[in-house]
Amino acid sequence: MRIGAIEAGGTKFVCGIGDETGAIIERVSFPTELPEQTMSRVLAFFEGKGVEAIGIGTFGPIGLDQSRADYGQVTTTPKPGWSGFDFLGTMKQAFNVPFGWDTDVNAAAYGEAIWGAARGLDSCVYYTIGTGIGVGVYTEGRLVHGLVHPEGGHVLTRRHPEDHFAGCCPYHGDCLEGMAAGPAIEQRWQTKGSELGADHPAWPMEAFYIGQAVTSAVLLLSPQKVILGGGVMHQEQLFPMIRQEVKKQLNGYVSAVQLADDIESYIVPPGLGDNAGLCGALALGVAAARRV
Ligand code: ADP
Ligand code: ZN
Repeated sequence: MRIGAIEAGGTKFVCGIGDETGAIIERVSFPTELPEQTMSRVLAFFEGKGVEAIGIGTFGPIGLDQSRADYGQVTTTPKPGWSGFDFLGTMKQAFNVPFGWDTDVNAAAYGEAIWGAARGLDSCVYYTIGTGIGVGVYTEGRLVHGLVHPEGGHVLTRRHPEDHFAGCCPYHGDCLEGMAAGPAIEQRWQTKGSELGADHPAWPMEAFYIGQAVTSAVLLLSPQKVILGGGVMHQEQLFPMIRQEVKKQLNGYVSAVQLADDIESYIVPPGLGDNAGLCGALALGVAAARRV
């Protein structure tokens, strides 16, 4: 199989060609600009490549419900030019192949379930903690869409007693993203997260917030694996801190070895590493090719 994949991020787009084993054969990356400029590069990349299907995992929010007029569109993003843009329609007009279409984080969760850290399991939750926070949910062997799609980056969290940062989510102020995404870390400590040492007090505080989100995900969805990716999670010292927080916050209430002695293999980085997004889009493309 020769399958196309698009990881459409708010900062950069990655387009690739891969196969049904998850191998990426070719890729390009370029910054996300206005839709016209960005899409002309996307169309040029796939032109003449002979792909059987294309999977798209994109920043959102997006329309996923085929019965609604906003299906295939990027909907309420503040990103200039993209709100209301018919992403899927533009692709369909150019290429007569089946498409997979989902959020970037759902795509990553799916890729991890097929080829990565949740391989062989029928549920997982994937968090990206980067410029924003997004959550992909895979359960009973399916990606969750529901009414729109999960927006678990904006759940409310309990404030850390020593945290006086107001929060920077333009919609909610001190929601999870407003307190724990990369820009929140940078604004709170007046230093880029990548420049804060591993023993800086930023990290226990960060783990306190992410730990709450993971605890809620465990309580609500009971996933078999929790995968934490995105730029901020390059701070590897966060993993043991987050595992400790989750254990502390659950306080033994949910009984599973994965939440006790085996928590190290339960809350993990992406098995596909920084390829999780593109491989996820590829997995959506493979699934679309197999549906026809
Ligand atoms: P995006 O979310 O834009 O797709 P990333 O997942 O790379 O991209 O996230 C970028 C955010 O992560 C920025 O806010 C950046 O400051 C932060 N970040 C990137 N690398 C690190 C690092 N090593 N440590 C802490 N924060 C980081
Ligand atoms: Zn928010």
